[in-house]
Amino acid sequence: NRQILLVSRPQGEASVDNFKLVETPLPLLADGQVLVRHHYLSLDPYMRMRMNDAKSYAAPQPLNQVMIGGTVGVVVESKHAGYKPGDTVRGMGGWQEYAIVDATQRGVLQKVDAQRIPLSAYLGAVGMPGVTAWYGLLKLIQPQPGQTVVVSAASGAVGSVVGQLARLRGCRAIGIAGGPDKCHYVTSELGFDACIDYKQHPDEASLAAALKEAAPDGIDGCFENVGGMVLDAVMLQMNAFGRIALCGMISGYDSRPIPMARPQLILTQRMRVEGFIISEHMEVWPEALQELGELVAAGRLKYRESVAQGLENAPQAFLGMLKGRNFGKQLVKLV
Ligand code: NDP
Repeated sequence: NRQILLVSRPQGEASVDNFKLVETPLPLLADGQVLVRHHYLSLDPYMRMRMNDAKSYAAPQPLNQVMIGGTVGVVVESKHAGYKPGDTVRGMGGWQEYAIVDATQRGVLQKVDAQRIPLSAYLGAVGMPGVTAWYGLLKLIQPQPGQTVVVSAASGAVGSVVGQLARLRGCRAIGIAGGPDKCHYVTSELGFDACIDYKQHPDEASLAAALKEAAPDGIDGCFENVGGMVLDAVMLQMNAFGRIALCGMISGYDSRPIPMARPQLILTQRMRVEGFIISEHMEVWPEALQELGELVAAGRLKYRESVAQGLENAPQAFLGMLKGRNFGKQLVKLV
């Protein structure tokens, strides 16, 4: 079983030297255990924070252990009555080719229907990123038809779902993304009303002017994935009583501080700003996954994937994703 371990903690930017590829024999299965062959690994921005030994909402990834992460795959051997070889499953198997899962623990291994929806989608639009979009938009921003919602990292796994759900709820959806290709995809394929390339704007005043053009009536809801200059620009255009769902601040994940230029706008515009961690809202997952699954199966929710080939390429693909080299949900294909 080939595995990737975290062997050191980054100082500033993470590098491939923080990871190590090893090969270990697979032990025999004990009662209640299931052996899963991973087909795809999910690479997600939160993993960068787990690499640090810092105070956070979750414990750090331990050194010299398999990197954590969401996985989908196929059961190859089972000593649990609930699973049989051939079952397609989603779990948290980590960066390795096989996982031995104690299936007696509730919820650790979910069977998924790979006939109706492609297996990889269960790591993206019909998985954790999709539920994140659903929760932040519908439970925190709670947009009304006709309102304007802005989302940053708009072409990504989470952002792409946010804008499409907003459109389906009768809102105007504005994306912010890096580069003309991503922006073109967001409007022409995903159907957002507009998308702004933040890389074309040197500062928040310039980006705010572009936002004003795209959203002449102001912004009612902001789904924030990035922080820094992008958030500063959105805040300048927020309407009174606007809502900001603070989902991510990827511009600061390499441990740089991310100053906020005008926090006084929260007061003067009476904004509601709320951070959230989707794994703490398990109660919404069934409802969210039901809607997301139906939309994807019906072709009404689109998504795109960046797929790296082979376990050995996971670290490079992960570091690239943190720099925006992914275009859509970043995965690693193993089989
Ligand atoms: P994405 O697929 O959106 O990939 C990350 C994207 O972030 C990159 O493609 C890049 O897009 C953008 N980016 C990276 N660095 C910067 C930067 N300095 N400035 C602006 N944009 C940058 O990842 P996900 O959809 O998986 O995650 C999106 C966000 O959601 C992340 O912040 C993540 O941490 C957060 N998240 C939070 C959860 C929660 O429970 N709160 C759960 C899941 C995700 P571009 O090229 O457009 O700049």
